[in-house]
Amino acid sequence: MADFDVIVVGAGPAGSVASYLLAKRGHTVLTVERGKRPGAKNMFGGRLYSWSLERIFPEFWKEAPVEREVTKEVLGFLHGERGVEIRLSTRPKGRSFTLLRAKFDQWLAEKAEDAGAEVISGFKVERPLIRDGRVVGIVAEGDEEMEAEVVIAADGALSFMAEKAGLRPKLSKEDFAVGAKEVIELPKEVIEDRFGLSEDEGAAQLYVGDLTEGVIGGGFIYTNKESVSLGVVMRIGSLASKVSEISTAMWEVTEKFKSHPMIRRYLEGGKLVEYSAHIIPETQFMRGVKLYTDGMVVVGDAAGFCVNYGVTVRGMDFAIESARAAAEAVHHALESGDTSARSLSKYQEILSSGMLREFETAKKAVDLMEDERLYSSIPKIAVETLEHLFLVDGKPKENLYSFLRKEFSEEGISLLSALLLGWKALRSM
Ligand SMILES: Cc1cc2nc3c(=O)[nH]c(=O)nc-3n(C[C@H](O)[C@H](O)[C@H](O)COP(=O)(O)OP(=O)(O)OC[C@H]3O[C@@H](n4cnc5c(N)ncnc54)[C@H](O)[C@@H]3O)c2cc1C
Repeated sequence: MADFDVIVVGAGPAGSVASYLLAKRGHTVLTVERGKRPGAKNMFGGRLYSWSLERIFPEFWKEAPVEREVTKEVLGFLHGERGVEIRLSTRPKGRSFTLLRAKFDQWLAEKAEDAGAEVISGFKVERPLIRDGRVVGIVAEGDEEMEAEVVIAADGALSFMAEKAGLRPKLSKEDFAVGAKEVIELPKEVIEDRFGLSEDEGAAQLYVGDLTEGVIGGGFIYTNKESVSLGVVMRIGSLASKVSEISTAMWEVTEKFKSHPMIRRYLEGGKLVEYSAHIIPETQFMRGVKLYTDGMVVVGDAAGFCVNYGVTVRGMDFAIESARAAAEAVHHALESGDTSARSLSKYQEILSSGMLREFETAKKAVDLMEDERLYSSIPKIAVETLEHLFLVDGKPKENLYSFLRKEFSEEGISLLSALLLGWKALRSM
């Protein structure tokens, strides 16, 4: 007889949602988190798309510690000291909220505890416990073994659980991005004034340009109630090919981003209260991660369910949705007394009819994001084209077609390959 029906490794959004749903259905659940408390070690850019959490907690924003509802989207192109911002003001159909993980993850883990899950923090799981080729529990620090009918690996982007259970291939630096983030405190009224927001409204702002010096990546700003979350994300493979010291490069690019005239005006007078860095899985799911084996399923970032579309970064909503599907499959497996891979394959079946379809489009977006021209030539051309259209210096202007032809040719891009790039973008977003 196993110690628990289910052991969940990690109390991020994926782990806590799986724990909550399974405990609610009467299963004995142990959640093991290595941080001092859930959320203590976790960071992200700043926005949760709400659709998947709403399925579990309708109107969760009324009780969850969310910061602001995003009603302003900005895509910015930076070039030198200059920049262009494309601003969308909206009351979106699909809602999204900014939040801070330390508070939010704690709230979600408490939901799991209230439903009956046992959550232990400050305890690191070393590996899955495997007997006769089947996962039968976990081995935690101090070689402590605990057994479960099913283990759910929700241990995030580097998932040693998935790797040691043989569920994912050896990944390389090309499969990850790295993000650095600062939280900068500002008075509420200042945030609302500078970002053009009314109370509780929030802004999500993403930027690309020469700040990353051709490295695949960009900067972000999300507004919270009384702070802004600001940072940069860069693909590790692309960064490593250009610099020898990644952490120094991250710091330098963050500083450059913060001091850009267009960004600086949002931050003036702010106080830096937090700095963190974290890995992001960028292409893992596409590289053949397996989602289940005998006695174990993998959810969230551990399965590589994170996509950077350039204008949106999504991982939290996929983590939650994959945990919901996994909990459903694990519940059926436990009820039927069959927790083999065959039975747990229901997890993938549930995802196939929904979330995994999204990853078909995501594959194309990931390919598109690998085009380094998006981070150098295109922002430059965007800034210079708008300057060409808006600025008047009394000299006769060339027409837009000739201007663009010259701009593209200066960047070594033929009009045909510019059209192809546009076509690729249209098909992948
Ligand atoms: C810079 C950056 C910006 C991002 N921006 C966004 C965004 O704006 N919107 C969005 O939706 N997504 C964003 N993401 C992605 C998002 O953060 C992840 O997709 C999401 O956190 C995945 O949730 P998860 O529960 O699978 O993993 P995690 O949140 O990583 O949780 C994993 C948990 O497991 C614990 N753990 C790990 N190993 C062990 C172990 N051995 N033993 C015990 N516990 C362990 C960790 O401490 C952690 O609590 C961003 C990520 C980064 C890094």
